[in-house]
Amino acid sequence: MHTLHLQTHSTTELVDITREVQSLVTGSHIQEGLCVVYVPHTTAGVTINEAADPSVKADLLMELNKIVPFQDRYQHTEGNSAAHIKASLVGSSVTVPISGGSLALGTWQGIYFCEFDGPRRRQVLVRIQ
Ligand code: ZN
Repeated sequence: MHTLHLQTHSTTELVDITREVQSLVTGSHIQEGLCVVYVPHTTAGVTINEAADPSVKADLLMELNKIVPFQDRYQHTEGNSAAHIKASLVGSSVTVPISGGSLALGTWQGIYFCEFDGPRRRQVLVRIQ
């Protein structure tokens, strides 16, 4: 198991971690297998989407923030219910096949760490098998 450490800078933010995950895959020398990327947090998640055009990131966050408003009649007293809900919407893990020693992502795909209650120090667990 590998751990990536990251520092987020905004309340909500998508951080492209594709290169860091691919580095771990390369270092593992595994040619064919699976890479599981797991986020052990309740107010952050991980998703795969277009990484070429940065406006996709902005649109994703804009709409998630619209669907799940920061303020509502939430019962959770910590004040970050919106972040918990968004984390559940995007999910806490993705699995990417490894082929020829590389993540078998589509041409436009990237792996995004999804911050919903930042800025914070975060961890991403990566299991390659
Ligand atoms: Zn909370």
